[in-house]
Amino acid sequence: MPKPRITVVRGDITKQDTDAIVNAANSSLLGGGGVDGAIHRAGGPEILEACRALRASHYGRGLPTGQAVATTAGRLPARWVIHTVGPVYSRNEDRSALLAACHTNSLKVADTLGAKTVAFPAISTGIFGWPMADAARIAVATVRAAATEVEEVRFVLFDESAYQVFAQALTSPTPPP
Ligand code: ADP
Repeated sequence: MPKPRITVVRGDITKQDTDAIVNAANSSLLGGGGVDGAIHRAGGPEILEACRALRASHYGRGLPTGQAVATTAGRLPARWVIHTVGPVYSRNEDRSALLAACHTNSLKVADTLGAKTVAFPAISTGIFGWPMADAARIAVATVRAAATEVEEVRFVLFDESAYQVFAQALTSPTPPP
């Protein structure tokens, strides 16, 4: 399977014209702060409506950490929002596999949608407290290793320092597992 091209931009994920954007959601799927709040505000009530429908059907207990599910993107330029729930950072427990799973499962959902371009935020690095450099290393290595039909994965970083960290991760070779 061909590997996706990985790009890094500084910007607002709600403005991306990719086929899908990924939301760093919380398991309730009913909105929150950070990138989640921005996506719901910019995309309008259709997204929340679709999330409520998911809660009423497949995800009665919410979306488990590491999993991903798609909804409409409402009035955003993207066609779909892929919601995924990042792990809360822990100093005592290694939750890297869950952060990696957010990326692989989001790309799997993108493949089922036929999305060829997907924008990711820096999942778990806001309210969930994951150190940016470690999150960037995991995100880039996971996307590099993913088997997917997605052609472009665009990491969209809100501030300059996060952008620099992701740009650096992209130039570093992936260490062997
Ligand atoms: P989490 O709960 O997974 O930590 P947050 O939404 O709190 O999620 O933060 C994830 C990252 O998204 C943070 O680095 C934050 O700066 C960034 N972020 C916030 N708003 C936007 C936006 N509009 N576009 C892109 N990234 C954003």
